[in-house]
Amino acid sequence: MIIKLPQAVVLALQHLNQHGYQAYAVGGCIRDQLLGIEPNDWDICTNALPEEMLACFSGEYPVYETGLKHGTLTVRVLDMLLEITTFRVDGEYTDHRRPDQVTFTSNLEQDLARRDFTINAMAYHPEIGLQDPFEGRMDLNKKLIRCVGNARQRFEEDALRMLRGLRFAATLGYQMEEQTKLCILQQYPLLNYVAKERITVELNRLLLGTDAVTVLREYAAVFTYLIPEIKPMIGFEQHNPHHCYDVWEHTLHALSGSERVLPVRWAVLLHDIGKPHTFTCDEHGIGHFYGHPKYSEELTRQILQRLRMDHQMVQTVSTLVRYHDVTIEPSPHHIKRWLNRLGEEVFFLLLQVKWADASGQGKLGMDRLELLRKLEQTAQEIIQQRQCFSLKDLAVNGDDLIRLGVPQGKEIRTLLNFLLDQVIEEKLHNQQDHLLAAAKKNIRSVK
Ligand code: ATP
Ligand code: MG
Repeated sequence: MIIKLPQAVVLALQHLNQHGYQAYAVGGCIRDQLLGIEPNDWDICTNALPEEMLACFSGEYPVYETGLKHGTLTVRVLDMLLEITTFRVDGEYTDHRRPDQVTFTSNLEQDLARRDFTINAMAYHPEIGLQDPFEGRMDLNKKLIRCVGNARQRFEEDALRMLRGLRFAATLGYQMEEQTKLCILQQYPLLNYVAKERITVELNRLLLGTDAVTVLREYAAVFTYLIPEIKPMIGFEQHNPHHCYDVWEHTLHALSGSERVLPVRWAVLLHDIGKPHTFTCDEHGIGHFYGHPKYSEELTRQILQRLRMDHQMVQTVSTLVRYHDVTIEPSPHHIKRWLNRLGEEVFFLLLQVKWADASGQGKLGMDRLELLRKLEQTAQEIIQQRQCFSLKDLAVNGDDLIRLGVPQGKEIRTLLNFLLDQVIEEKLHNQQDHLLAAAKKNIRSVK
């Protein structure tokens, strides 16, 4: 079994070996390399104690004492940042998050035993080969996520592992081993002890996984624990001829048809979360959800803020949820108004959300998909032809109007918006002389 290591990793291993220490590339990078996926990061483990690592690399390579107390040193080799960690055994976990103390060891197998899943508990050295005491490679072949050791105990130690496991299942398309699965379905309330930020990192990665929908469906209990607002969607019948699924099933179908782009994924997951709260039934027994986008937007904002998402993400996802159901006519001027209102980037994300929403309605959404295709094509043409749809594209600006004698202040903006409107309506050409002439005529009338 030969695993290709980057030159920087080989140099770091050799450097430690030359100083008399054992060293291996370890964890996720070996898993990914065996799967032919580009690893996120390369980690190294060694029997050198923290001070010994420091002495070994200092002076020869830039070192950063990122977590020396816990046995980790970051070293820059050939422009690559490598985390090098002393073999260690984790002590007791009393807070379900991190060990109370760590003990260093000279035994590789003990270090591998503290790792979460068998597929993450392999180490490799070019001359010694693959070290795989927990049969991670076999589980890779079987596409199984299995805890190293006793699942119940491993999740009790660090509850985040459950979510990491689900993230791996979603991104790799793997199954959870039976015992591991049972334990997750019983122990998920321990996630309460984990920092929101760490949960959010895993949720983001999980949602981007090719198999996110399977995991969301199978582990709905975990997700409704993390986001209780999801619960009313599950099994909520829509009583409407435009919908063949309940709200949650529709959401999952929409997600499976959605692009793997983070704000789109979140928006699709949450777009109908307000539906159960806005349901009404008319005299014909038909269900309606008047005002649900606004309600969904409010819940979305609360949920994402609670998950400590950054402001930009909260804004984008909430906007997408707010407008997921608006009708955008395929006429150029209508599209330009939406491009102006949302900006180019969010506009195209909204089309992706609408696409997913329509594709989640089964056959009933076919006509909408056709319309969305047309919308996208026309919008692309508008962009490619650099047609004017926002104030920054307009051939005049505020200074030009001041020179015409328009008093500074609100009137400038009103007049500019009026001119933009005329250009979008194709009543005026976006040329400076045309616009200035129109401005002159309208200085007093537009107030
Ligand atoms: P990725 O880098 O794709 O997120 P990874 O498995 O490499 O996945 P890292 O956070 O880089 O994740 O961790 C590196 C290794 O450290 C893991 O492969 C695993 O062996 C170990 N590890 C990480 N987090 C935990 C944890 N919570 N419990 C036990 N071992 C862990
Ligand atoms: Mg990693």
